[in-house]
Amino acid sequence: MTGSESRAQAIHQIINRESTSVKKPKAFDKIWATDAFTLVKMEEALSKKAYKAVKKTVETGVALDAATADVVAAAMKDWAISKGANFFSHIFYPMTGATAEKHDGFIISDASGKAITEFTGSLLIKGEPDGSSFPNGSIRMTNSARGYTVWDPTSPAYIMHRDNGSTLCIPCVFISWTGEALDKKVPLMRSNSAMAKAGERVLKLMGEENVATLNSSCGAEQEYFLVDANLASLRPDLMITGRTLFGAESAKGQQFDDHYFGAIPKRVQVYMQAIEDKLYRVGIPAKTRHNEVAPGQFELAPYYEAANVAADHQQLTMTILKDTAKEHGFVCLMHEKPFAGINGSGKHVNWSVGNSTQGNLLDPGNNPHDNLNFLLFCGAVIRGVHLHGPLLRAVIASAGNDHRLGANEAPPAILSVYLGSQIEDVFEQIKNGKLDGSTDGGIMDLGLSQIIPFAKDPGDRNRTSPFAFTGNRFEFRAVGSEQSVNGPLVAMNTMLADSLGWIADELEAVLNDGADQTTAVIAVLKKLMTEHGNAVFGGDGYSEEWHTTAVDDRGLKNIPTTADALPAYKESSVVELFESTGVLSPLELASRFEVYAEQYIETIILEAKMVTDIATTKIYPAATQYLSDLALTGASMTDLGVDFDKSILELVASETNSMMAAVAKLSTVIEKEDFGSDEEHLQYCANDIRSLMDEVRSHADTLEMNVSDSIWPLPKYQEMLFIK
Ligand code: ADP
Ligand code: MG
Repeated sequence: MTGSESRAQAIHQIINRESTSVKKPKAFDKIWATDAFTLVKMEEALSKKAYKAVKKTVETGVALDAATADVVAAAMKDWAISKGANFFSHIFYPMTGATAEKHDGFIISDASGKAITEFTGSLLIKGEPDGSSFPNGSIRMTNSARGYTVWDPTSPAYIMHRDNGSTLCIPCVFISWTGEALDKKVPLMRSNSAMAKAGERVLKLMGEENVATLNSSCGAEQEYFLVDANLASLRPDLMITGRTLFGAESAKGQQFDDHYFGAIPKRVQVYMQAIEDKLYRVGIPAKTRHNEVAPGQFELAPYYEAANVAADHQQLTMTILKDTAKEHGFVCLMHEKPFAGINGSGKHVNWSVGNSTQGNLLDPGNNPHDNLNFLLFCGAVIRGVHLHGPLLRAVIASAGNDHRLGANEAPPAILSVYLGSQIEDVFEQIKNGKLDGSTDGGIMDLGLSQIIPFAKDPGDRNRTSPFAFTGNRFEFRAVGSEQSVNGPLVAMNTMLADSLGWIADELEAVLNDGADQTTAVIAVLKKLMTEHGNAVFGGDGYSEEWHTTAVDDRGLKNIPTTADALPAYKESSVVELFESTGVLSPLELASRFEVYAEQYIETIILEAKMVTDIATTKIYPAATQYLSDLALTGASMTDLGVDFDKSILELVASETNSMMAAVAKLSTVIEKEDFGSDEEHLQYCANDIRSLMDEVRSHADTLEMNVSDSIWPLPKYQEMLFIK
């Protein structure tokens, strides 16, 4: 079958696909968390004493004793076996951003051939996969490979049902034999504690006597694309790299804005319902779903949870989205920019901090100017974004996200913070040394008696900001759709810990001088705003003007690529930030730079190889076949004395030659190996390799628009985006 015949067959299969009907979803209370070993289940299964111990660990982070762990392990095993699981697996989150699992059976047998199931506290608590087989940034050599997975009792275990059986999944941290973090969970938990400690200090200084353990919360909105598997499987670039490395823009893109919040196509809705069913069963509170801006693009958001649990649930959501797509004949693309020329996908990480005694400390209430705790925590975020903008940029850096940031649809690569008019005004007053009051949104009265007037939000939204206050939380909007939320959460919690520490020191000094609380808070925040107010920006982040004033007048950094962003991990201010808060040691931080740099380099090289491969083995043959057809036709026509216009023939010939010349250059460029430093290697990928890939693509895309459709081997944008 030629390439173009496979295309036709794929379309035929999609059109003749048996339609699945949208079923009534299962009653929520029948399925909610049935496959999760939550605190509610533990309360039923454990003794009062054991349950109380686990609950305390979950709420305050204190250690669980070995005897209780044994009791929990036994109860967890019985529960899992009753659900049909014969295996258990420690689930952990290596630095690659993936989810890793290692399965073990509950079964043990004796010499007489008798088999029983066994699961002790020590098996629950600790596993030992090979620490060197995951990227560890030189922390572990292959000859000293021991690594441990250790149970995190604060994140509920759950059952995964797959075709090949059911498995008890136990969320774990992953550390080296020498105790260094090899994963994304350890730093998140440490950053949470650092933030809690510093926050408690501030609250105590503010006269709060009863202060429960602070925790950060996260609700992550996930964008993704769905493409029919018949078509996607004919695109090796999409299947291997997650994005189209070639593809001329389709005449119809998103220019009519007809997809955003449009009716969800039936086949997609069936898929979404299947997703929600699975998410509910493992205790993930999926809450919103809608069409996104680009054709074929959708979004899912859960209700927010404690950051550590939300992060595990986010990883699991991505797995379920991908796995379930296969069952429905789709491929779920989580890449940040699967298709050039239309919007890419992001993951908005909504984040707040709070506790059970003071509530959400980023909730301003009705009178923000009176809410001193809020002002201090919000001020701490402003200082953090200003001081650590480059770090926030580094934690969202990836080869995929580079295509999206700064393009005209996603936040710019300059980190600033949007507060909304009301809060911005309050901080402006503070900067000027007096605090009179807060504006409010007023009442929205349409003057239509049928429409009930309502209280307006005190600030508008600003979708051009990478980091926006949205009423009772911050929304980090520049995160990429494929990325783990852990890096961003770690950066936010850590910068907050540092800033709250600074605020506590300053407050303490002013209070010791005899100032009253309000005066002290205003004095400290005035200083903070004078030094760091430059990070606050309420205007259009997409505009040309902002790109100049941000850098020239405000001293903010515009950091366009991953190659420019990752070196922030080596800045002394960042090393000190992580070391002083106890979140990452200098060795652990250095290992992260190494792993992320390698991931970026490997991604670019893989893409470049795919570019040369597809151009040579798919596009070149189609183009030359077309040339040969045209040449034959032209020759016969000339023989017959009929005029033949050679312009297409000449264009295809010249574009084919130029494409292959660029392919030849790219193949040589990929081979280079000797680099003076990682930084040099990163820049080489971002500039030399990427620009040649773009050059090959531009010729190939011109060919796509000029070669006969009947011999074009790759499914086209309009087919992948619109045929479902
Ligand atoms: P929008 O698209 O309007 O930004 P969504 O409803 O799609 O909003 O997503 C908002 C996300 O923010 C949800 O996951 C929601 O649960 C979460 N969220 C709401 N309040 C908080 C909070 N205080 N802290 C963290 N996340 C929150
Ligand atoms: Mg949002």
